[in-house]
Amino acid sequence: MPVLVREESWEKIQQSLKQNLSKPSYETWIRPTQFCSFEKGELTLIAPNSFSSAWLRNNYFETIKEAAEEIFGEPVTVKVKVQEDLSKKVDPSRPISSELSPTLGSSSASNNDNRDPLPQRKKPSPILNLRYVFNRFVVGPNSRMAHAAAMAVAEAPGREFNPLFICGGVGLGKTHLMQAIGHYRLEIDPRAKVSYVSTETFTNDLILAIRQDKMQSFRDRYRAADLILVDDIQFIEGKEYTQEEFFHTFNALHDAGSQIVLASDRPPSQIPRLQERLMSRFSMGLIADIQAPDLETRMAILQKKAEQERVGLPRDLIQFIAGRFTSNIRELEGALTRAIAFASITGLPMTVDSIAPMLDPSGQSVEVTPKQVMDKVSEFFNVTTEEMRSASRRRPVSQARQVGMYLMRQGTNLSLPRIGDAFGGKDHTTVMYAIEQVEKKLSSDPQMASQVQKIRDLLQIDSRNRK
Ligand code: ADP
Ligand code: MG
Repeated sequence: MPVLVREESWEKIQQSLKQNLSKPSYETWIRPTQFCSFEKGELTLIAPNSFSSAWLRNNYFETIKEAAEEIFGEPVTVKVKVQEDLSKKVDPSRPISSELSPTLGSSSASNNDNRDPLPQRKKPSPILNLRYVFNRFVVGPNSRMAHAAAMAVAEAPGREFNPLFICGGVGLGKTHLMQAIGHYRLEIDPRAKVSYVSTETFTNDLILAIRQDKMQSFRDRYRAADLILVDDIQFIEGKEYTQEEFFHTFNALHDAGSQIVLASDRPPSQIPRLQERLMSRFSMGLIADIQAPDLETRMAILQKKAEQERVGLPRDLIQFIAGRFTSNIRELEGALTRAIAFASITGLPMTVDSIAPMLDPSGQSVEVTPKQVMDKVSEFFNVTTEEMRSASRRRPVSQARQVGMYLMRQGTNLSLPRIGDAFGGKDHTTVMYAIEQVEKKLSSDPQMASQVQKIRDLLQIDSRNRK
């Protein structure tokens, strides 16, 4: 049978690719790819999803082509299709029973409609937030690595990156990314047993199990997952008994080839009072961190969110909000939500002038004083405040002055004429011009953008310290 022969050929091609690619690459991209057909020199493959197919196309077509030509002994063109409905594909190695619900944690205890043995495509786990999916996650330089690792883990769980340890500050998207893995896994394999649990829930469940003498069912429950997502694992610090039990849960899952994903606000080595053996377990896969997003990424996040809310936002307003909320995406989103609500309640237009006064990180009046802005800018650019107030047109001076005016506009309630006064009696049109110049440079000059960002961060820290 030619088809069978061809299919075997794909296995041979895979073998040859295995020699030439790194193990994670092979496991993530080549192994899950199936043979579809080989006709008139055209090799068609089936990727499990569109992400894989795009990835194959962009990264591996040449290599596959070469390997295929070797095996088939003729020129080959490679094509890839997406497996449209994986749920129709029955995996014989998997029992079609469902002993437990795909989600764990106390809140799913009463949920038994997941026990339906028939796979239900795209049925979201009740515990996963529907908004926390990959296509709502904006990838920037700050999160590229974590995002790629999350994708890879969803595609090929239990292989290379096990555990995947995602770490980063508060509100930077750890939970979002983690749950996106769960959603995506269920999309690929609707029968996968995905569980998402906070460390707090794990601890509470454990205490309850001990109290009710139900340790066995606790263990059965937690150890049956194919993919377990444990959030805020830093809270395990100092909890000796929870650590002990989690260690065994971890080992059981890992030994069974289940994928473990952990999220924490800091890397394992910085979690205080964490048992050595847990620290080494947490570090044995991949530690991927998410940093604070840069201005451009923050703007892209706002843009995306605005699109989702179907609100048109002028670019300068996006830039303004993105400029004020730098270190926490939850706050950034919150600011946008408040701006939208404010505009709709008051009927004011969505412009910087109408929105700015109500947008403050703490929800109170603006905290930065004009003097603080002057001092910081002066310190940063090494230009005295007198020089900034003077009429000097020396480049370093005029640059500092422009940035100062821009930040004063952003950071304080002062009107343009008052800002002009603060800079030694400049005209308000001069101030306006300065602000425009800075805004232009912010989008074209990364060095400038990063300098302004640094001062802004310094000012925010200052203003918090003042309280
Ligand atoms: P963490 O768990 O790190 O504290 P979350 O995952 O809860 O943070 O994220 C906080 C909010 O910010 C969520 O509403 C999330 O959707 C949003 N968010 C975080 N990162 C991104 C991103 N890269 N793109 C879009 N939204 C994001
Ligand atoms: Mg979180």
